[in-house]
Amino acid sequence: MTMSEEGQLKEAISTLKETGVRITPQRHAILEYLIDSMAHPTADDIYKALEGKFPNMSVATVYNNLRVFREVGLVKELTYGDASSRFDFVTTDHYHVICDGCGKIVDFHYPGLDEVEQLASHVTGFKVNNHRMEIYGTCSDCSVKETH
Ligand SMILES: [Zn+2]
Ligand SMILES: [Zn+2]
Repeated sequence: MTMSEEGQLKEAISTLKETGVRITPQRHAILEYLIDSMAHPTADDIYKALEGKFPNMSVATVYNNLRVFREVGLVKELTYGDASSRFDFVTTDHYHVICDGCGKIVDFHYPGLDEVEQLASHVTGFKVNNHRMEIYGTCSDCSVKETH
C-alpha cells in the first residue's frame, strides 16, 4: 500500500468507528482490498482474493460487509443489469471508462457535472440526488488483440 492508500484506510476506519460499526478483521481486509485494487471488484472477486485468509467467510458475508460500507458512504455499488455489482471505494469525484471487450473499468478524473444536475433539476422539477456517467470503448489490451 502507498502512503496515500494507508491514509485512506485510516480515514475509512475512523468513519466506521464514528458511525458505530464494529471493525472486524474481515471488514479491515475487505476495505484494504478495495483501496488497493483499482479494478472495481465484484463481491465474488473479493471473496476469492480473501478466502485463503478467512476460510470461514462466505460470499454472503462479503456482500453484507459491502452493504454496511455502502450505507456509511465508504463504497459505491455500480449495478449493470443482470451482471453482478461492482464495488468502488469512494474517493474524489471520478468517472468511469468501461471496455466493451473485457469489462474492465478504469477511473478518470473530471470535475463533477454539477451544472448538468442543476439543469436537469431546473428543466424537470426533480430534486436531483446523484448522477452517473460512463464512457464505453475498447481498452488498449483489447485493441492490441483485435489487430493481431
Ligand atoms: Zn478490454
Ligand atoms: Zn471508480
